[in-house]
Amino acid sequence: TKTVYTFGGDAPKPDARQKDKTITGGKGANLAEMASIGLPVPPGFTITTEESVRYLREGAAFSDGLRSDVAAALNHIEKTVGKRLGDAADPLLVSVRSGARVSMPGMMDTVLNLGLNDETVEGLAGASGDPRFAWDSYRRFIQMYSDVVLGLDHGLFEEALEVAKEDKGFYNDTELTADDWRELVGEYKNIVAQEQDESFPQDVQQQLWGAIAAVFESWDSDRAKIYRRLNDIPADWGTAVNVQAMVFGNMGDTSATGVAFTRNPSTGEKVYYGEYLINAQGEDVVAGIRTPQYLTRAAREEAAAKPLSMEEALPDAFGELSRTFELLEQHYTDMQDIEFTVERGKLWMLQTRTGKRTAKAALKMAVDMVGEGLIDEKQAVLRIEPMALDQLLHPTLDPDAKRDVVTTGLPASPGAASGKIVLDADTAEQRAGRGEKVILVRVETSPEDIHGMHAAAGILTARGGMTSHAAVVARGMGRPCVSGASSVSIDLKNRSLRIGTRELREGDTITLDGSNGQVMAGEVATIEPEMEGDFGTLIGWADEHRRMRVRTNAETPEDCRMARQFGAEGIGLCRTEHMFFDANRISAVRQMILADDEAGRKAALEKLLPEQRSDFHAIFDAMAGLPCTIRLLDPPLHEFLPTGDTEFAELAELTGVGTDHLRRRASELHEFNPMLGHRGCRLGITFPEIYAMQVRAIFEAACDVARDSGEAPIPEVMIPLVATARELAILKALVDETAETVFAEKGARVEYLVGTMIELPRAALMAGEIAEEGAFFSFGTNDLTQTTLGVSRDDSARFLGPYVEKGIFARDPFVSLDIEGVGQLVRMAAERGRETRPDIKLGICGEHGGDPASIAFCEEVALDYVSASPYRVPIAKLAAAQAVL
Ligand code: ADP
Ligand code: MG
Ligand code: MG
Repeated sequence: TKTVYTFGGDAPKPDARQKDKTITGGKGANLAEMASIGLPVPPGFTITTEESVRYLREGAAFSDGLRSDVAAALNHIEKTVGKRLGDAADPLLVSVRSGARVSMPGMMDTVLNLGLNDETVEGLAGASGDPRFAWDSYRRFIQMYSDVVLGLDHGLFEEALEVAKEDKGFYNDTELTADDWRELVGEYKNIVAQEQDESFPQDVQQQLWGAIAAVFESWDSDRAKIYRRLNDIPADWGTAVNVQAMVFGNMGDTSATGVAFTRNPSTGEKVYYGEYLINAQGEDVVAGIRTPQYLTRAAREEAAAKPLSMEEALPDAFGELSRTFELLEQHYTDMQDIEFTVERGKLWMLQTRTGKRTAKAALKMAVDMVGEGLIDEKQAVLRIEPMALDQLLHPTLDPDAKRDVVTTGLPASPGAASGKIVLDADTAEQRAGRGEKVILVRVETSPEDIHGMHAAAGILTARGGMTSHAAVVARGMGRPCVSGASSVSIDLKNRSLRIGTRELREGDTITLDGSNGQVMAGEVATIEPEMEGDFGTLIGWADEHRRMRVRTNAETPEDCRMARQFGAEGIGLCRTEHMFFDANRISAVRQMILADDEAGRKAALEKLLPEQRSDFHAIFDAMAGLPCTIRLLDPPLHEFLPTGDTEFAELAELTGVGTDHLRRRASELHEFNPMLGHRGCRLGITFPEIYAMQVRAIFEAACDVARDSGEAPIPEVMIPLVATARELAILKALVDETAETVFAEKGARVEYLVGTMIELPRAALMAGEIAEEGAFFSFGTNDLTQTTLGVSRDDSARFLGPYVEKGIFARDPFVSLDIEGVGQLVRMAAERGRETRPDIKLGICGEHGGDPASIAFCEEVALDYVSASPYRVPIAKLAAAQAVL
């Protein structure tokens, strides 16, 4: 198999392997593809990811095969460009670039201008007729190579540059002359010689192989490992290496370098979006060394910025660039994120990839592209990451709330967040770990800050543009971000910051509005999101394609209304226990629990009945016409017991029973392991009057709502924690009998079902028999996971982290269903249930009902519906559609 692939010049069209990102990496595959559709790409070659894996596995050794393949491929570059690496008269320079399968922003390092040494720099100066450019390139090369390959501290070089600029009274790098750079190169070489035993390598082959090795090894760097862990990227993918002829954006005022998106990645609008810098190279744009300039005249005018846009300063290259944008979008049928360089007026493409975008932009682009005929509705539905909708389903700042705006930066990533100021990533992680909401404030961010950005609710930087590290990473993570707020100055020693004239301290609360760049002191009120426009259109397409229904887990009328706004098609789980905790009711509940006999319990239940009825009335009103699964009382009774002296005294007064007696009853009810104790249907079996009261309340309310609104709800009475068919048979009889009594009293009936939650392994095993009694199963996958794994969810935090890290579980099984294990029980129960009762209704009501991977599994076993929390309903709808497409 080939280890090296060439592109550009007269390289052959890429074959399937070269087009495969898993082999040539994202960057390499796309460079070859761009070259093959006729775009101007400097010639180069790609070493496969397989070689990096081999190199790391075999203990940092290059194979002979690789050495000769690289030599041949280098020849391809030399022939195409007409220059040779190391030629003292007119040298070829190359970049050595990493490129993993998926883009890992800023994770792996790139070396530019490789091939320069004390001799070739003179050749470059002569051949280009521009000594300043040659020496500028050399100093860049020494610094990058020393940082990336030799592992020296780049701060040393930056300091030397700062000192040189100060000495001369310069502000910008562009003010330095050829001689200034030459002098600096001398200092740089001294630094290298001081910091390590050897002087800076002059042999260009040694430079090349050193850089290739460094890219290979960067796959196992700490920053790369952190990024992989946060993004679920396997360690065995490895990275490709791209070696490519240099083109130069630092050859004076007709040269430039830039980054761009074919559409606005923040809003999704179809406008070119990006930044560029004249007479600059590579990372200058994103590193925030100079403030980048706008791409289009319109963007510059809108921002009232002075420096000319690319459209104005380099109109020909800009024209070429816009044609390239169109071509790329047609070819990839998606928004592209590109890197380009203009060398003396000529445009060169250095990278393209599918651009990261906010959820809002993803929706707008998908809907627009359907309109443009670029993609169809199914592709649009498949294109949106369901969890990304989460960003849109949460509150934004109330436009009418008072804002104490302290400064305005760039709107780098939308959304709003309030939190306490923290000044470094470790502090962000620590304080977030204690449950605090924090805003990470940095001069600029770098890959070392990723864990802190992840922990923070929002990110604020003093430097950097819309394509800075902070902006790109924040958008990817869905964190609101304001970047380039230049009036922010940070004093790390005193853990404080000054914004304009305001003095703030670490720990003070601020609010960010990532949609307009505002930074506000204090917390600002928020409002609920709206579900119209592109969001509605896309969910509409998802609705057309999905098979499963999507219900909600809701137990208050407010939840129900919210869920209906989000498009819920019924209630999949209405828990009833919270209704017992209400301040006005809890004493009646305690009276019931501690009563000595049935008569005592009934007296207390009489007080609860009207309350329960009004609860259900409100819920059925909100859900009129839709199925509502109501779970009868489930938690262990001891959760309701009085605790302190005052609680016992109050109860004694209310019931006229002595506190001693009450305390004795309470201690009788104590349980060692309440999760497996006197709870669920066991309550209904031992205290049928409790369930009878709840069932009466359900049917009285249902009949009343049907009568008053003309639209009957469809109650689905759910018996929890059933292990045997007999339990369900006994309780179903109780439900039917109570329902009939109510219907007789009301002179009316409503349609209803009785079924059970499948949440014990025995219930799954016995599903065939249980289905004889129950008309529906709802998989209670929270408890089913606990009981199958023998893991208590509330106590799992201490070991689940390490379990996931060690790969024992791929993901937290309480977040994403353990399909291999627990999934087998679900599958089996669904099959056995259907054998007995072909029209049995099957659904899922655990947290997993809102998790896209679990939803895909539910489709596979053909459940009728999933049920998710109100905010997750649209996510579940989209995931359900994707599961069938
Ligand atoms: P990253 O993956 O961090 O974006 P790249 O390999 O894309 O790293 O390199 C970063 C930048 O270096 C590019 O955006 C481009 O500006 C510059 N660069 C890379 N290769 C070349 C080249 N052959 N000629 C000119 N500039 C280059
Ligand atoms: Mg980089
Ligand atoms: Mg790049």
